[in-house]
Amino acid sequence: MSTAQLLSLSVRQAAEAISSGSLTADELFEAYRSRAAADRAAQADGLNCFTWVADAMQDGERAGPLAGIPLAVKDLFCTEGIPSQAGSRILEGYEPPYTATAVSRLASSGAALLAKTNQDEFAMGSSNENSAFGAVRNPWDRSRVPGGSSGGSAAAVAAGLAPWALGTDTGGSIRQPASLCGIVGLKPTYGSVSRYGMIAFASSLDQAGPLTRDVSDAALMLRHMVWQDPCDATSLAFPETIELPAGERLDGVRLGVPAELSEEGVQAGVRESFQAALGRAEELGATVRAIHLAHAPHALSAYYLLAPAECSSNLARYDGVRFGLRAPDPEDLLDMYTRTRHDGFGAEVKRRIMLGTYALSAGYYDAYYGRAQRVRTKIAEDFSSAFAEVDLIATPTSPTVAFKLGERTADPLSMYLSDYCTVPMSLAGIPAISIPCGLSEGLPVGLQLAGPAFSENRLLDAAYALEQAIGFDTGAARV
Ligand code: GLN
Repeated sequence: MSTAQLLSLSVRQAAEAISSGSLTADELFEAYRSRAAADRAAQADGLNCFTWVADAMQDGERAGPLAGIPLAVKDLFCTEGIPSQAGSRILEGYEPPYTATAVSRLASSGAALLAKTNQDEFAMGSSNENSAFGAVRNPWDRSRVPGGSSGGSAAAVAAGLAPWALGTDTGGSIRQPASLCGIVGLKPTYGSVSRYGMIAFASSLDQAGPLTRDVSDAALMLRHMVWQDPCDATSLAFPETIELPAGERLDGVRLGVPAELSEEGVQAGVRESFQAALGRAEELGATVRAIHLAHAPHALSAYYLLAPAECSSNLARYDGVRFGLRAPDPEDLLDMYTRTRHDGFGAEVKRRIMLGTYALSAGYYDAYYGRAQRVRTKIAEDFSSAFAEVDLIATPTSPTVAFKLGERTADPLSMYLSDYCTVPMSLAGIPAISIPCGLSEGLPVGLQLAGPAFSENRLLDAAYALEQAIGFDTGAARV
């Protein structure tokens, strides 16, 4: 099989080719490994997708339904004996003694670790410019961001440097980069994939999920990841098997479009592609109606209290004693703590630790954290009432297409708006998928579909039907 043929295969197709004998696991792995290694070696001339690339396929990764399928993994997943730095200087060179459950589940189905992907530091960001290891470039236009925080994962898949990748989503970090890079990204129901071994940002929101070329591959990866893990008390038993999607129609599916998340602030070109996708859905038999999520406009404010509050507590562990960086020649213990954290954390992480510490401080706790929790409940209730009337909710994934590197770095608030449409689902803990639905200014636009908790099978089916009808070319940015 030629390299071009091999690269054109989805994971599902590659796995079939391996089991039928028309492709070997070694050929597949080496083709991707050499491409990933070349991107890493190219440094500033490449896309800077990776923080580590495997030298060879490890033994024991050749059995199971995903035998030999190369897997790119976001840097913040712990991988035993392999640098796991969460995009941060404070964890530079840190090699954990164990592997995250999501990764080991995929490995036990045969997937082979290909690379660790670049990301925003501790998953805080929407452009991958907050990485201590440099920004990632968007393969559609190298002067633009790939989105974040799973920017390395998204760019690697879009560029054909990895067949698929594992990411995490706290407020949009799988869906938004998937949208900006023209691929598929799924944030599963909170709790369906174990968080054990994921370097924490905001534990009540963090969820692992797939970034893939198509919807079938997203289903395939999720199928091999869902698990109630005794090591993660918030993980849940997924109530059904994740099926590979097959339906091509949307007959009887009621789609709700919330005005709050699809009009104001959404670029005209994005709105146009989104409307066209809704038209496709109707042609496939769906009914589309306007709905309201009255509290959704407050989601971002609630998120930027809750996520920093949780991060200020989660990141207290980086004190120079237990992990990674330690400031040299400290005068005393306090000096070691403060200089380690001063040198180790980037500006955005420090901003969030300060915001979170303030929001949790005695006297302000009720006014900020308590109030944000109440808003979170209202948002979840809005979704529950909406799902009494519609089956799925559709919005644009990102209000804009990929923006220029540097364009929003000086203005954190404009950066935070990138997640306007994705944060409400995170606060409600419900699943949502982004699929590419067209181009605006020559750049990909994403359509987001969300459903009730554990509706992944229905969500994937609907996304698959739309994907077939839209016919977006996810190989267009392959390098
Ligand atoms: N961009 C959002 C943030 O900076 C979401 C990040 C994420 O989902 N990890 O917090």
